[in-house]
Amino acid sequence: MSPKEPVPCTSCGAQITAKSKPTFLGFPKFECPSCQDTIVYPLGVTTRIVYGTFFGLFGFGALILLSQGQTPTPGWFLWPMGYALIRDRILAKKVRKFVPVRVGDSK
Ligand SMILES: [Zn+2]
Repeated sequence: MSPKEPVPCTSCGAQITAKSKPTFLGFPKFECPSCQDTIVYPLGVTTRIVYGTFFGLFGFGALILLSQGQTPTPGWFLWPMGYALIRDRILAKKVRKFVPVRVGDSK
């Protein structure tokens, strides 16, 4: 997402042209000048692919361990990644109500 591209505020619908600041998990975050709300947008396509790939790989690894009768010990990073992917889905759905073009979908 280009920082110069205006995005609609998911609280009041105003167009925000402010530069986004990424959150800890890489979500673009904006401050709405109209309603002073903090708006969090879905992940960029690249971040989502990276998270999805890692999550898939480690999830698959855990399944192999389980099938061998071992207990997988997921890395600490697996949880925030899973959380980010779920949050991304929720945010993408929320943003879609405000944007006629599909935001948050991979092309
Ligand atoms: Zn707003």
